[in-house]
Amino acid sequence: MNIKSDTKALDTSQVVIEKITLPSGDIREKVYNKGKFLGKGGFARVYELLCEETGEVFAGKFVPKNLLSKGRARHKLMSEIKIHRTLHNKNIVQFHHYFENDEFVYILLELCPNQSLSDMLRRRKRLLEIEAQCYLAQVLLGLKYLHSHRIIHRDIKLGNIFLSDKMEVKIGDLGLAAKLEYEGERKRTICGTPNYIAPEILEGKQGHSYECDIWSFGVLMYTLLIGRPPFETKDVKTTYRRIKMNLYMFPDNIDISKEAKALITSILVLDFTKRPTIDQIFQNSFFTKNLYPRLMPLSTLVVPPSAN
Ligand code: ADP
Repeated sequence: MNIKSDTKALDTSQVVIEKITLPSGDIREKVYNKGKFLGKGGFARVYELLCEETGEVFAGKFVPKNLLSKGRARHKLMSEIKIHRTLHNKNIVQFHHYFENDEFVYILLELCPNQSLSDMLRRRKRLLEIEAQCYLAQVLLGLKYLHSHRIIHRDIKLGNIFLSDKMEVKIGDLGLAAKLEYEGERKRTICGTPNYIAPEILEGKQGHSYECDIWSFGVLMYTLLIGRPPFETKDVKTTYRRIKMNLYMFPDNIDISKEAKALITSILVLDFTKRPTIDQIFQNSFFTKNLYPRLMPLSTLVVPPSAN
């Protein structure tokens, strides 16, 4: 008998074991094999995780518990999980489940193998209008679902818009999301990503609500079509000053349609009560002037769609 193979120890750096307590009190172990490194966020490192039992592959978010020692960080992660686990929509990254051991909290999410729009734009520089229509329409559907469940995402940006194996848009990272207790409530916490943050969040006087996601959507649209965010500067303070003054331009050397310009201009307004609603954006001529594909082909991750 080959004793070695009998006593084969699991390489613990390559597997994650979930211990499940059964109603009988017995413990069942579920083994996940750690695959490719997918990326890193504020707290987490994200890897592919293959469930040995079912063959399913997930994106596994590994959050080290030592970074959660401060009560607030743990509270924030639990709030992200509490919100994300309730969501079921084809344009939102699906939450599967979470578990923990002594070292990490593991969050198992729908795997988006085609990375984010940020990765795509790095390769492509900017997108054609027909591609922007396709992606932005799906972002709107995801946002409409969130808002109809009284959730503000608060961190809509290229890096949080993921692409599934079929190139469907999946809004992810609900780390800054907030659920309103009642319709009309206004949030006060300052949060977001500098280039995408809405002016009312920076001003902080009137609080903020769903309209801050509409602003970030406008920034996203500009960025996809122009190739860089509208208020970007070398330092955050200047960016914030520009946002508060709504100071941005459409560069002369980049050709975008008058409909695209008009829609961006109507969204990026300081008075949040004047911004269009999701339904109004859908009805805007930017989306109605021509037909566009429901999904883009995989090749467009690297090269523009061909004209034929
Ligand atoms: P954090 O909440 O800590 O900022 P993110 O949710 O932004 O972490 O994830 C960090 C990185 O991991 C992302 O930028 C992306 O590269 C990768 N990632 C996150 N979720 C997925 C997913 N569902 N599928 C594929 N890659 C993902």
